[in-house]
Amino acid sequence: MIRVGLVMLQGARHAHISSLNEASEDLGLEIEIFEIRKLSHLISSNPDVIVLPGGESTTMRKTGQDKSSNLIPGIFEWIRENPSKAVMGTCAGAILLADPQDGKPPLIGAKVDRNAYGPQNESFQGIVHSTLLDREFPGIFIRAPKFLSSTDEVCATIGDEIVGVRNGRVIALTFHPELSLDKGFHKWLLESASSE
Ligand code: GLN
Repeated sequence: MIRVGLVMLQGARHAHISSLNEASEDLGLEIEIFEIRKLSHLISSNPDVIVLPGGESTTMRKTGQDKSSNLIPGIFEWIRENPSKAVMGTCAGAILLADPQDGKPPLIGAKVDRNAYGPQNESFQGIVHSTLLDREFPGIFIRAPKFLSSTDEVCATIGDEIVGVRNGRVIALTFHPELSLDKGFHKWLLESASSE
């Protein structure tokens, strides 16, 4: 049984739940999903996988820093202390991993520029090439950030732009894999949590 912690700060959380369930069925790997609203939920559920959905990173930083939840920056520290966990941050979640703003090293080594493609109506779909999946992936970019450079492994690109960065079992994607029919990244996450 793979324990998956879904961070419930904002964004397409329910689409991630569907994607995780589909990926688990396809792979024949059983999962249990824990909704993480407070740091105490993270500690008590001790997940193997963490998903940090998109949303609005400024809002997520504010709500996550609420004294009653203590989720941010506690979650960043927990990921640093537990390097065997598989983590996926999508869009705003990727921004948080690359720029945790807690005075400690980022979880992903990449320079990120928020809203770099412009406002909501500049959102787009495009074919991502992923070395992680070793194939193309239909990427959905919603008011997406841009990775300007990376000191970690580039694991997804669109043209010559970096849209996915990997640091071991931590991946940060500037797009929304939970909104595509292709469950490749969710499968990768569950598979890497299930491998030693
Ligand atoms: N524009 C958002 C931000 O800067 C990210 C958008 C998203 O997660 N879809 O946080």
